[in-house]
Amino acid sequence: MKALCWHGKNDIRYETVPDPEIEDPRDAIINVSSCAICGSDLHLFHHFMPSMKSGDIVGHEFMGEVMEVGSDVKKLKVGDRVVVPFTITCGECDQCRRGNFSLCERSNRNKAMADKVFGHAGAGLFGYSHLTGGYAGGQAEYVRVPFADETHIQVPDTLTDEQVLFLGDIFPTGWQAAVQCDIEPTDTVVIWGAGPVGQFCVRSAVLLGAQQVVVIDNVPERLSMAQAGGAIPINFDEESVLGRLQELTHGKGPEKCIDAVGLESHVPRSPDSVYDRVKQSLWMENDRAHVLREMIYVCRPGGVLSIPGVYSGMVDKIPMGQLMNKALSVRSGQTHVRRWSDDLVRRIDDGQIDPSFVITHSVSLEDGPEMYNVFRNKQDGCVKVVLKP
Ligand code: NAD
Ligand code: ZN
Ligand code: ZN
Repeated sequence: MKALCWHGKNDIRYETVPDPEIEDPRDAIINVSSCAICGSDLHLFHHFMPSMKSGDIVGHEFMGEVMEVGSDVKKLKVGDRVVVPFTITCGECDQCRRGNFSLCERSNRNKAMADKVFGHAGAGLFGYSHLTGGYAGGQAEYVRVPFADETHIQVPDTLTDEQVLFLGDIFPTGWQAAVQCDIEPTDTVVIWGAGPVGQFCVRSAVLLGAQQVVVIDNVPERLSMAQAGGAIPINFDEESVLGRLQELTHGKGPEKCIDAVGLESHVPRSPDSVYDRVKQSLWMENDRAHVLREMIYVCRPGGVLSIPGVYSGMVDKIPMGQLMNKALSVRSGQTHVRRWSDDLVRRIDDGQIDPSFVITHSVSLEDGPEMYNVFRNKQDGCVKVVLKP
């Protein structure tokens, strides 16, 4: 089959690889109809995630038709149309029973390695390094889905691929980030980053009834898209983030802050960004923490910091004194996709939201390597890329 494979920094190739096979009776094989490039894939593209191997198949946002099922698969049959959550979930372990699906205790095949790095391993993820299980990803014609009875989302045939594809990752990610803010009707919710995840944070915060939603980025078309979804835009190249947030909250600071940027935050002229870039390039810290510092500083005392943005390891100069003395709460995590997906399917079906708004590019899988560059460089107004195998 054809797939997109990782070969090192800035090197994704469209290649012929062996077809996946059923390896466990609980597996299914999916014939991929649509897949997407996620901001998290850029962390692989830039080689910020350790434990990638040359030839690894990437991609964790995908959907398609069930082609084959293992002998223990009960809930799926050949021909079913499913979206696959990026977090592989067994459905039976203690964390899965608590609804903490991204912390599944059984799905990470490389648990011993991940336990060493994180203290305790999280779930297995598709196409996202050997630390998360070393599973082949979904930017491919076919994918093996482990624990297939639990690791799927059934979607109605009346909805198009474009409407439901993002149920596997960025829609529930934006939703969970907003839910974790415990939004009150009087709240100002501020979202750093107007990438695909930030866009779904905006729409979710609006749906959850925030009084005011603000979004920060420096890419004009991304800010416009967020504005169309109900947010007040702040362009950090053109105005002072701190000054504008003070003005919008009458000097009190926003109650809820969401980091939809993660470890690759960039603010060219800020001294802490320069510091982070130097330390990151020397492997003296893993992640650039400008957004975290800014959120801790501006958040209203007693507020919540919700962090869907991905961090990989050590960060430097976190103002713990501000965080503690302002009594801020921190909520984070890879998304517990299955916890939210049934509700979100209903909301799409009801017409409360049409997730296809975020798609700017739809091309064939073969064009994937080029689209990694277009998406990364935000060329041609690119916000979200869908690939068709
Ligand atoms: P993206 O790279 O397309 O978007 C990031 C945006 O942040 C860009 O538009 C960029 O211009 C902006 N930005 C950079 N520095 C900024 C700053 N200092 N202030 C404000 N904006 C800034 O990526 P995405 O697909 O939107 O993903 C965003 C983050 O969410 C990534 O870290 C990704 O890995 C993560 N993610 C997490 C989960 C999860 O389960 N927690 C799921 C999906 C994605
Ligand atoms: Zn993702
Ligand atoms: Zn589990």
